[in-house]
Amino acid sequence: QRPLGVLRLSLTARCNLACPYCRPDGEEPPGLLTLEQRLRVIAAGVALGVNSLRLTGGEPLLHPQLTDLLQAVQPLRRDGLKDIALTSNGLLLTAQRAEALRAAGLDRLTLSLDGTTGASVAAMAGLADSAAGERALEQVLRAIEHARDAGFDPAQGALKLNAVIQKGRNDEQVLPLAQLCRERGLELRLIEYMDVGNRNGWQPADVVTAAEMVRTISERWPLEPQGRAGHSTANRWRYGDGQGSVAMVASVSQPFCGDCNRLRVTADGIAYTCLFAAPGSGVDLKPSLAASRDPADLQATLGQLWQERADRYSEERSTAAARPAAHAEMAYLGG
Ligand code: SAM
Ligand code: SF4
Repeated sequence: QRPLGVLRLSLTARCNLACPYCRPDGEEPPGLLTLEQRLRVIAAGVALGVNSLRLTGGEPLLHPQLTDLLQAVQPLRRDGLKDIALTSNGLLLTAQRAEALRAAGLDRLTLSLDGTTGASVAAMAGLADSAAGERALEQVLRAIEHARDAGFDPAQGALKLNAVIQKGRNDEQVLPLAQLCRERGLELRLIEYMDVGNRNGWQPADVVTAAEMVRTISERWPLEPQGRAGHSTANRWRYGDGQGSVAMVASVSQPFCGDCNRLRVTADGIAYTCLFAAPGSGVDLKPSLAASRDPADLQATLGQLWQERADRYSEERSTAAARPAAHAEMAYLGG
């Protein structure tokens, strides 16, 4: 009985980084959806209750038709689409690109950055050395300012920063990241390292829990709990000194399957209802998207998939019997 609310659409499985916790493919899967097919998927989602669209990847800024897609979905606002967001590593976000995304109708932007030093960025982004990490860090810091200048106002929740924290790799970056975001007026979203995919070698011991991260931050800057809004992925905390807020995505230590409203569609048109699904367990939308098929078929296929969903992997994680033997990869699913 979980209502559908969010569509996360992956535009590409490729990425210009190779974060070891994500490990994207170097190339696209066969059968990528066309722009027109993606529009039909979004329209069918909106007809079924989707009010929020998140474009993701791989790295969505690698997609040559991103602004065309943004422009083309605008009419769906009349049918109930309220919010269009994008998640990006920010490396390709020039001033011009940020302005073009805003002008094309993007409402919100989340950039990802896992450290504040060349060494930590290199370790988390799969870059060769600290110098390469330093260059990437500078690029993302510039991207934040380009986004702000283009009108993505962090005070309105239109610009946020994601950071995955992994024990032994960048856990010393929790405070520096919090400081960086406080200085820039950004909400930081600290994400527990998740067991998505099979390539990252995830171990429970690699997870820094949200509770640990809250403790670390609150020892320096006291935090006041704000709770988790319905259907949201993040628990929010307000800084006691009024300097904004910080959020925790605690999908490992405090799962939130019970009100999950997120449908995921991969770049090649496979629909998944759970981030931790087994590869091959999704529903291929391409047959329903075939030109010869009645447009109502797609909506019926998605509607049935959603009605039948019973997945709650994060809540069952600790039970060995509930574990799929393998998970679909994060860059393929789009996070
Ligand atoms: N390339 C873009 C980016 O990095 O923002 C968009 C796609 S990426 C898959 C979406 C988000 O998922 C990023 O914020 C990334 O840090 C996060 N992510 C990837 N693998 C993860 C994992 N194993 N655990 C937790 N978060 C992860
Ligand atoms: Fe690329 Fe994002 Fe995956 Fe990092 S997390 S490899 S930036 S898709």
